[in-house]
Amino acid sequence: MDRCYKCWSYDHRAADCNGTDRTKTCYKCGKEGHAVTNCTDEEFCPLCSTAGHRAGSGRCVAFRRALSQANKAERDARGHSEKEDKMDEDKVEEMSEESAKNNTPQ
Ligand SMILES: [Zn+2]
Ligand SMILES: [Zn+2]
Ligand SMILES: [Zn+2]
Repeated sequence: MDRCYKCWSYDHRAADCNGTDRTKTCYKCGKEGHAVTNCTDEEFCPLCSTAGHRAGSGRCVAFRRALSQANKAERDARGHSEKEDKMDEDKVEEMSEESAKNNTPQ
């Protein structure tokens, strides 16, 4: 999955980036001034401002949200999805709502 190399966001590419420049930031602790290989700090994710994981790890909510959005977009692009049944249910609900409105006496 693509991520903005500048601010590490998954929402956009670097070309569209208005975010923080993190190209010199340690991706383990989110601080500047050292390389990750020299990092002695706790893991901290600046994407979701949470300690205990690094940016883009499987525990990162920002990463997981972006991942599920990407998966959803991929399913949509393929046309048919596992969600088809659910979508049909929604349609049926909409239709019955619509007919209920039409049948409501004035
Ligand atoms: Zn960015
Ligand atoms: Zn660090
Ligand atoms: Zn995170």
